[in-house]
Amino acid sequence: MGSLSNDDTPHLNMIQYWHETFEQIFEDFSPDEWRLEPTNKPMPKGWRTFKDSAKVKFACDCDNSWTSMKGVVIFWFNKIGDKPEVKQEKDQGDSGDSEAGASRRENGSVYSLRFRLYGQKCKISEGCDNEEFQNPKWYSEEVEKVLNNVHKEIGEVFYGFPKPVMDENRRRGRPRRPHDSSRCQACQEGQCSSNRSR
Ligand SMILES: [Zn+2]
Ligand SMILES: [Zn+2]
Repeated sequence: MGSLSNDDTPHLNMIQYWHETFEQIFEDFSPDEWRLEPTNKPMPKGWRTFKDSAKVKFACDCDNSWTSMKGVVIFWFNKIGDKPEVKQEKDQGDSGDSEAGASRRENGSVYSLRFRLYGQKCKISEGCDNEEFQNPKWYSEEVEKVLNNVHKEIGEVFYGFPKPVMDENRRRGRPRRPHDSSRCQACQEGQCSSNRSR
């Protein structure tokens, strides 16, 4: 994992890295089960949201590539069910009734953490008329940062952890141009403010 963290190359989606990092960070919510699920669909109402941003890189088919300090990720999280009742094997015979309450607590619940990564379009000024939103490439350290932040947020909201201090750092970068809202998917959907939304 250490080698991945220091990898300078941003990877397209890095879905495996998202999941591995997620599993490590979220294991302390056990016995509750958390599932990380990428989504591109509009989310139903009633889910809590957490928005964060990172330095990301984009590449277009025309060979143009650019970095952005406004790589937006939005997380949605909600309880989606209870884990099935674990049948206590009574193989010790007459050890009596174990506390029903205690075994229920051991079961935990099932939660879903959905997330969406927002894209950007290539720039007409580069001579490209590709109007597709390109998928962002995320740096591994930024994946870790936003997963740690949403873990802290969930810890506060669902588990009563103390109010967290969020990691506001981003991988270093000095954008050569101002942010182009007309080509940013998150801006187009009103999700690109730099403020965290709770
Ligand atoms: Zn292009
Ligand atoms: Zn934007």
